[in-house]
Amino acid sequence: MKEAAGAAPWRMEGVRIWTGTGEPAYQGALEVRDGVVTALGPTLPPAPKVEVRERPGAVVLPGFVQGHVHLCQSVMRGLAEDRPLHRWLRERIWPLEAAHDEATLRASARLGIAEALLHGATTLVDMGTVHGNDALAEVAAQMGIRAILGKALMDVGDGVPPALCQPAAVGLAEALALHARWHGAAEGRLRVALAPRFTLSVSPELWVEIARAARAEDLLIHTHVSETPWENDACRAMHGGSPLEVLERWGVLDARTLLVHAVWLDADDRARLRRRRVGLVHCPGSNAKLGSGIADVATWVADGLPVALGSDGAACNDALSPLAEVRLAAQLQALRHGPGRVPAATIAALATREGARAIGAEAEIGTLEVGKRADLILFREADLGWEEDLPLEHALVFAASGARPIEVYVDGRARVLEGRLVGEDFDEIRRDAAAARRRLLGRLDRGNETWRYPSS
Ligand SMILES: [Zn+2]
Repeated sequence: MKEAAGAAPWRMEGVRIWTGTGEPAYQGALEVRDGVVTALGPTLPPAPKVEVRERPGAVVLPGFVQGHVHLCQSVMRGLAEDRPLHRWLRERIWPLEAAHDEATLRASARLGIAEALLHGATTLVDMGTVHGNDALAEVAAQMGIRAILGKALMDVGDGVPPALCQPAAVGLAEALALHARWHGAAEGRLRVALAPRFTLSVSPELWVEIARAARAEDLLIHTHVSETPWENDACRAMHGGSPLEVLERWGVLDARTLLVHAVWLDADDRARLRRRRVGLVHCPGSNAKLGSGIADVATWVADGLPVALGSDGAACNDALSPLAEVRLAAQLQALRHGPGRVPAATIAALATREGARAIGAEAEIGTLEVGKRADLILFREADLGWEEDLPLEHALVFAASGARPIEVYVDGRARVLEGRLVGEDFDEIRRDAAAARRRLLGRLDRGNETWRYPSS
């Protein structure tokens, strides 16, 4: 089996196709030219110069959208256990992030992107960190994933190491410079969003500037919001309103905004979401592990808001698997609202079509349709636990959480074949990440409950 040559046209035949548009899966063929899906259907007319790849017993789906990750935390798995959010951040994650340099960031990003591809995520949205984000962009470009990147903006905050806190003007200038260097790079696979971390780590003055810059440059704003009651209480004490209330006051909320978590919302907050038509990212695994709560995804969906699913960072999940998130999302909504309120087909769409809509990429990705980018993933039918008399999305959501794709394509180029990364050695990536993790730990003062980076 050889890697797809970039521009040479090819076809996948004898494969079952789940387009993600709502139509049932069917047996057929799919053609790719110049990285784009150019034909698909039960049968395609003969095309003698097109390479044919027979894939009997396989299902092809649109690649998953991983709506929220922290690539810089891929080397922090298991290092911040058994803490609620505010202690998780202050005692472990912020000191660890402060200890990163470009080499450790690169190793962490390589591990995170490798795991994303091996689990079928062809697009990811990353929050970035405060320094060294070019390293993340270089790795994303080189490994061929589609990504929305950003520089985490932090100019205030209790318990934030000085190394992660920058004057507002410096942070915003660096974020816009990152945008100028990388937005549209890697043949259009990379985009750059503004990534203010949350209301407690960004001053009102900087939020206003972020909103202005986003409108001027048509940028996505990617931020965490109302993840815990602690965050809401601290925001009310500091700014006199809930996180969504103050973000609306500062001009941040609109369709360019991607809000992550949104677990603790009152009726006024829910009205703000409806009014502003924002995009949302649900992170069920992270919210469960940190004990944050169960977001009301059923209401967002009923309101017609675009919703993506995210794993969040490896330090609060700890898997980076879209199929693990779809199963948990379905189960938690059944626990909160009763079974069937959010059907399996709706949950499957959050990882594909609706996820693409939430991040503003629905014209390019999220379904298998003529004219869309050829971001494709293939599973063995047997691995999905699927029976022919069931809708495929039922198997995807409830039975397939242990499955991994056997092939993954981004822009029609193979990034995973036979379940292994193409052109990358996963064992070497893991060894490099383990060494980076040891270097990070070696830089920290770990004598107390709260780890410290020496400049803190
Ligand atoms: Zn996050």
